Amino acid sequence: MRESERVETTTGRDAARSTIAPREPAGPGRNRFGAGDETDGMATDEDYVRDAIDISRLAVEHGNTPFGSLLVVDDSVVRTAENTTRTDDDIAAHPEFKLARWAASELEASERESCVMYTSTEPCPMCASAIVYAGLGRVVYSVSVDSLAALREDSVIEIPCEEVIERSGGSTTVEGPVLEDEGLTVHEAFY
Ligand SMILES: [Zn+2]
Repeated sequence: MRESERVETTTGRDAARSTIAPREPAGPGRNRFGAGDETDGMATDEDYVRDAIDISRLAVEHGNTPFGSLLVVDDSVVRTAENTTRTDDDIAAHPEFKLARWAASELEASERESCVMYTSTEPCPMCASAIVYAGLGRVVYSVSVDSLAALREDSVIEIPCEEVIERSGGSTTVEGPVLEDEGLTVHEAFY
């Protein structure tokens, strides 16, 4: 991975930096979002899921649908992305898809194996396939696709991420829902 790209985001680093404020003053062991606990400086899954939910709010502020994701390697956020399907007029501009493509081109295979994608909503089949192709180690999501489908009137492809990955023969571990009530508040305000 090129060092200069570690903290770039797909919407510009200044945009993300200015709108996701650290929870605590930055210190040793903290990533740029300030995620981390007080004991060993390691952020928890819930910390990163909250960051993904924060990014999903940014996507709405920027004129898009409420989805946000980030990639973590060795307890560092290496990339964030928000949905830009509307502003880019691109059906593939899902954050998970953008991050999987980025990881495949910019991370070493060993980094991808240890990489965790945190995402505000369970990845759709398109993104789940990209996650398999990229060989990401783990996915942690907030809102399940079933919960999203129950909320939305338009069509949601209701195939669990884990099912796509299993049937693809992928080795990515999928965990969720995590903090689903918090993730759902963003969808409920939007749909
Ligand atoms: Zn998707």
